[in-house]
Amino acid sequence: MKALRYKGPFSVAVEDVPDPRIEQPADAIIRITTTNICGSDLHMYEDRTNVEQDKVLGHENMGVVQEVGAGVDRIKVGDRVSVPFNIGCGTCKNCLEGWSSFCLRTNPNEGVDGAAYGYAQMCPYPGGQAEYLRVPYADFNLLELPPGDDFERDFTMLSDIFPTGYHGAELAGVRTGDRVAGLRRRSRGAAGRPQRDAGRRRSGVRRRQGSRPPGAGRKDRHADRLQHSRSGRAAAGRH
Ligand SMILES: [Zn+2]
Ligand SMILES: [Zn+2]
Repeated sequence: MKALRYKGPFSVAVEDVPDPRIEQPADAIIRITTTNICGSDLHMYEDRTNVEQDKVLGHENMGVVQEVGAGVDRIKVGDRVSVPFNIGCGTCKNCLEGWSSFCLRTNPNEGVDGAAYGYAQMCPYPGGQAEYLRVPYADFNLLELPPGDDFERDFTMLSDIFPTGYHGAELAGVRTGDRVAGLRRRSRGAAGRPQRDAGRRRSGVRRRQGSRPPGAGRKDRHADRLQHSRSGRAAAGRH
């Protein structure tokens, strides 16, 4: 099959790789219909991780179930599914307590809990920027979607972007009408151009939403307060 592989800093390529196959009874093979390029992929592409050469990237995937292992009973061949980016086993202590992103079983790297598709340190699972994807513990991990191909661009947000943002908003206790600040770490030199491009796109979204970044335009005492906060605790207050 064709898959997108990491070849080194600022270099990826679509190459032929072996088709994934059922390796464990709880596995499923998904035919990918949509996969996203995540901002997190830039950390690997721009050389801020130790991702191994030839890794197949892609952790935001959806598709149709092509094949299931003998131990899979909830998910059926032909199901249209979203594939959440983190991989849990469903039965370890952390998964049972709802912390499946820190599954104790799915990452064989010593001292690292939690696994994901196509990502540095979250190995050994290839990603879904490919024609097919192997999904471990398919009954636990896959989210069934309505059949057909409607709302593909909406459903593709379910694998990471939408639930990650929603979960973050819930953890922060954000409510409608709250004034909030989004903070991000400034990237180092080599990443300058993509970050500036992303910044321009975000500026357009901000304009349409009527918001503006801290420190932009006229003097903003709240922005000053955030920027000069050493502990970051000021950012948690509501203004
Ligand atoms: Zn992502
Ligand atoms: Zn687990």
